Amino acid sequence: MRLHELTYTEVRKGLSAREFSARELAAAVLDRIESVEPSVRAYLRVRGRDEVLADAASADRARDTGGAAGPLAGVPVAIKDNIVTRGLVTTAGSRILEGFVPPYDATAVERLRGAHAVIVGKTNLDEFAMGSSSENSAFGPTRNPHDLSRVPGGSSGGSAAAVAAGEAVLSLGSDTGGSVRQPAGFCGVVGVKPTYGRVSRYGLIAFASSLDQIGPIAADVEGAAALLSAVAGPDPRDSTTAALAVPDFASALDEGARGVTIGLPAECFGAGLDAEVGEAVLSAVDLLKREGALVRSVSLPHTGHGIATYYLVADAEASSNLARYDGMKYGRRAPVEGDLVDSYSATRSGGFGSEVRRRIMLGTFALSAGYRDEYYVRAQRVRTLIARDYARAFGEVDAIVTPTSPTTAFRLGERIDDPLAMYLSDVYTTQANLAGVAAMSLPCGLSAQGLPIGLQITVDAFRERDMFRIARAFERAVGLPRLIPEF
Ligand code: GLN
Repeated sequence: MRLHELTYTEVRKGLSAREFSARELAAAVLDRIESVEPSVRAYLRVRGRDEVLADAASADRARDTGGAAGPLAGVPVAIKDNIVTRGLVTTAGSRILEGFVPPYDATAVERLRGAHAVIVGKTNLDEFAMGSSSENSAFGPTRNPHDLSRVPGGSSGGSAAAVAAGEAVLSLGSDTGGSVRQPAGFCGVVGVKPTYGRVSRYGLIAFASSLDQIGPIAADVEGAAALLSAVAGPDPRDSTTAALAVPDFASALDEGARGVTIGLPAECFGAGLDAEVGEAVLSAVDLLKREGALVRSVSLPHTGHGIATYYLVADAEASSNLARYDGMKYGRRAPVEGDLVDSYSATRSGGFGSEVRRRIMLGTFALSAGYRDEYYVRAQRVRTLIARDYARAFGEVDAIVTPTSPTTAFRLGERIDDPLAMYLSDVYTTQANLAGVAAMSLPCGLSAQGLPIGLQITVDAFRERDMFRIARAFERAVGLPRLIPEF
């Protein structure tokens, strides 16, 4: 049995039936990392073999002594490198944080450790999660395991590629405008952006605080649901977490799609959409119809303003959040002769890459006196209109189905010099963050070139249970085999 090829569901069965131990599973994953990392480069850092195996052995002991071990005990998980891990270098893909060792764990990480998950390492990302291809990492790009000449998507490209390539069973990413869903779609895995407030942002390195959420990635729907259950729920250290108990996502998985109403927004099936992506998504909808779902059209009239609104709001918040990197408190300080301002400026211009600098400048401009009303305040108003579109649609349907992205994975280098083309990858994903609702991507087929196509399911705030229910019904009905890339 090639243990690294197993989905979460298979891993959990095998561990419970004692067909293999967590230690054997971790060893198989580490071996897989050793053989494929030179091609994929999903990780910025893999923990030492001995440490990982020791954690796995302790999960085995917990299982042996405690009897009923939790759903994540012994499961190898990779963590995006903008989520802080105590004692383990965390850089957010930026030179400005090179060598930074966090003194604490993010709440999501603390909960994973408490559940005896086995943390494998930290995954690559676009610097500070700003990007859609993982090419903006200061430490080099990750490659798509299904075609090494293509990007894995971004910004959680490392987390998606790690799961797709069998270098982790599960991973955590973060999603501000699509950064879990788009790479999941490009890599043929499942990725979830939870409702804003479902998962604590404590220890998530802030990009745009009103949009950021940590989200799970897995090869199967059950894996994503299990990982979300483990990290979700109120946290006194993040006042934006909702005071709501986490529903039983696992029990939703067998409920099927019968009777759910699915809305198709015409605005997401028009110009700019690759024909084969659109066809794959529509045939997925047909399949859901055969599973008993009701399908009707809905309208999201402000969809066309999503990208502009998102990039104004996100960059404005980023310019404020990233002001803290001054080389004084943590991270790298550029050696400089001169005064404090010279030190700030040398540290920041040498420490940030070009995309991050572009966003700080755009965001600062959008917030500056004389322009604030015209850009930032206006974007906030449009954000409200977008949220109202969703509220209205969810008065009529339980879920909205669209493509995750307008195209399949593009080639490395293809969009890096054209920020607008890069930003257009997010045309269907930013709205869920602006509206604060939940959405996920799941694989729904392959293009003629053999590249994965992602289907997006969006539900109203705190209705993730419905989303998992529909996703699992589709996954079961379509029965796509897990794609294991060979190198
Ligand atoms: N691609 C989008 C951006 O560049 C989204 C990033 C994200 O969700 N972190 O901002």
